Amino acid sequence: MRGKMEEVLEEDSDEDNFLKSSKVQKNFNFLKENGILDHIEFLNWEIRNYKSLLARGLDIFNRTSIDEIMDSAVYQISDQFLPSFIAFIWKPIQTREDITMKAYKNYRPVDINLSVDNISPFETFFKQYPKPIQFGLLAYQMDNDMAVKPYLDINTEIAVPIIGPFGLYGIILVGRKILNEGYNRDELFFLQQLMCFVSQAIKNHLHYEHSLHDVKTGLYNHGFFLARLDEEIVRIKRNNYHSSIMVIDVDRFKKFNDTYGHLAGDKVLENIAQVIMQGIRRDDIASRFGGEEFTILLPNTDDITAWNVAERLRTNVADMNTLWKINLPQVTISVGIYTFDKNIDSDASDIIRRADEAVYFSKDSGRNCCTMWNPGIIDPQPG
Ligand code: GH3
Ligand code: MG
Ligand code: MG
Repeated sequence: MRGKMEEVLEEDSDEDNFLKSSKVQKNFNFLKENGILDHIEFLNWEIRNYKSLLARGLDIFNRTSIDEIMDSAVYQISDQFLPSFIAFIWKPIQTREDITMKAYKNYRPVDINLSVDNISPFETFFKQYPKPIQFGLLAYQMDNDMAVKPYLDINTEIAVPIIGPFGLYGIILVGRKILNEGYNRDELFFLQQLMCFVSQAIKNHLHYEHSLHDVKTGLYNHGFFLARLDEEIVRIKRNNYHSSIMVIDVDRFKKFNDTYGHLAGDKVLENIAQVIMQGIRRDDIASRFGGEEFTILLPNTDDITAWNVAERLRTNVADMNTLWKINLPQVTISVGIYTFDKNIDSDASDIIRRADEAVYFSKDSGRNCCTMWNPGIIDPQPG
């Protein structure tokens, strides 16, 4: 099957028509001898290259996940020549230093001999020079042997920054060619242009991801949670299964902040988020509801399973140690659970209200416990 790329490359009938036109034929020798035809051929070659680059860029921009963007970029490059590796290094959450890396060799994801836990040494340089650059030149300009050595050791040829309003989000690295040859001028130009597209596509995707997440904890934000809850209400009716939600509230957190300070409190919230993420399935949606409250949507989960998850989270938080200047004292959480029913529930705010009522019940029961909503628990709202 012919791809879009080939169709674009073969669209050169204008060129043929021009050469066959009677005016050109009449003056053919003059045009040839004065180098005009050669120049036209060169311009056409350049146009074909730009069209190809645009088609490749479009393919990259049309991808809807970072993995797909990376796969497409690797395919587009390896189609032209084989770099010894292509590595993508990025911060999934821009306000945190956690790094993710994925490297490819011969189209396939591989481990490369590079360990990166921080890209901040490159931040100042790339803020001043936000473009692809040959790594040797970057190393010379940065004058920070420690930072650049691991990259030079693996023969990095080109570095492309992923840079945006939050600073340096990541770096794309391209190794020397597989036979350790350097790239020629045209190859470098192609690589650098294509990588600008890749960098933009990854940046757009990170911005999109960012818009769904809470900055402090990395969990989903409340807006995304509500959108997924609305979807889930429709799904339980269609699939005839049960889903549950959980509301979690940290116990006596005001006092904790007053005693140890807000920054210590923030660290605790981050750790609780980690404990939540480690204790739920991939399909579950954990969000920060705001303040020291979290909500979790557990699709296709009945009341007994939801209860077990809630108990596991509660005990894991109670056992959690947080180091922030000192070993902070342990905190506890109160949990409210509601399993929604396709025959009764069609409104997201009612579902959240019930899980909230169950949290109040946990608080009234002495905190550090879980409550499954049932019609018998006291409704704390007036009326
Ligand atoms: P309860 O057991 O009844 O839930 O008591 P509480 O003190 O947790 O409840 P209250 O709603 O009175 O206080 C919530 C506190 O959570 C207020 C605020 O100090 C703290 N808090 C809310 N958001 C944040 C945050 O982002 N960071 C930190 N450090 N503290 C927060
Ligand atoms: Mg609260
Ligand atoms: Mg609280």
